Amino acid sequence: MNLSAHNTLRLPARADDVIEVLQVSSLSAISDALGEQPRCILGSGSNVVLHAPINATALLCRITGRAITDQGVLIASAGENWHELVMWSLAQGFAGLENLALIPGTAGAAPIQNIGAYGVELGDRLIRVTAWDFQERCLKQFENADCQFSYRNSIFKNPEVQGPWNRPRYFITEITLQLTAIPLATVQTEYADLRAAFDKLGRAPTPLEVAQTVIGIRKKKLPDPADIGNVGSFFKNPVVSQLQAQHLSLLHPDLPRYPMPEQSADLCKVSAAWLIERCGFKGARRGDVGVHDGHALVLVNHGGGTGREILALAHEIQQAVVAKFGVFLEPEPMFMPEG
Ligand SMILES: Cc1cc2nc3c(=O)[nH]c(=O)nc-3n(C[C@H](O)[C@H](O)[C@H](O)COP(=O)(O)OP(=O)(O)OC[C@H]3O[C@@H](n4cnc5c(N)ncnc54)[C@H](O)[C@@H]3O)c2cc1C
Repeated sequence: MNLSAHNTLRLPARADDVIEVLQVSSLSAISDALGEQPRCILGSGSNVVLHAPINATALLCRITGRAITDQGVLIASAGENWHELVMWSLAQGFAGLENLALIPGTAGAAPIQNIGAYGVELGDRLIRVTAWDFQERCLKQFENADCQFSYRNSIFKNPEVQGPWNRPRYFITEITLQLTAIPLATVQTEYADLRAAFDKLGRAPTPLEVAQTVIGIRKKKLPDPADIGNVGSFFKNPVVSQLQAQHLSLLHPDLPRYPMPEQSADLCKVSAAWLIERCGFKGARRGDVGVHDGHALVLVNHGGGTGREILALAHEIQQAVVAKFGVFLEPEPMFMPEG
């Protein structure tokens, strides 16, 4: 079964079989049927690089359902479309997800890398994750602290907990979030692009205005996977020591730096896009894959690109950035197979 329609890079990897998971209650029977056979989990495929044949059964998460209480507790099934959920929660009168508008993917995948944008991360709003445990064959709950959220990371990316890509232990079935009634909400507009957009407004923007502005900025900055295959940012912004950041800044005063006081005063993120652009990759093309000409962090499939070509380009970029700046770029999407 070809998975090109199930990953936004549109790589033509084949899986042994595909099962659409439509209900939580079917996971028990699926566990029995698969036994110890290899399996992998896919939501919308907007954060995976399927670079080779997937010798496993792909479980597509398609469980839907959503509800919100008067107190702003939002419960979403894992197969809900994330962006639709954000806009729906605002329409119900609750704020908190507006900065995360237009991120592709499913609600169930959102905790995996603790999705984040414009100064807000999922972990800032999440109460708990519910997941099917393939090992103990029951549902389990992970409270916010159990998820060990950090920048683009969570316990579900830890192979010692989640296992290898072709035997994931936990299938997320539901997430529970705490939102705030719009009249009581304060919006987060510290991020430079948002500050600039609302500079002259003369009042705090509404959560809906923040969402609309985020959508506008994202549409201008990022290529739409419907037009050209991509997984958004291909690399994480590297986290370096303050000392290394200062050293880099002395040599390159225009390198964007983002302090991380909530994690450690000694650490600092630097812009991966800037590093890649300075190595001359923006708009570069290698066969049918390349680096987007509008955003150096986005690798694209121009049509007939292969997983092997994407990996080769990613490797070429990593080597060039290490050679020029001494900084290693860690990929953001998950590789299936690993490596
Ligand atoms: C144009 C574009 C822009 C993007 N912008 C951002 C951004 O601003 N911020 C950001 O954080 N991300 C961004 N992303 C990345 C992506 O949208 C998110 O990581 C999203 O949460 C992935 O959802 P998905 O359903 O497509 O997951 P998939 O790509 O299908 O899966 C991702 C990982 O999660 C696992 N997984 C998926 N569903 C489940 C489940 N139910 N249970 C257990 N494991 C599961 C998969 O096995 C895989 O390891 C962007 C991607 C694109 C294409």
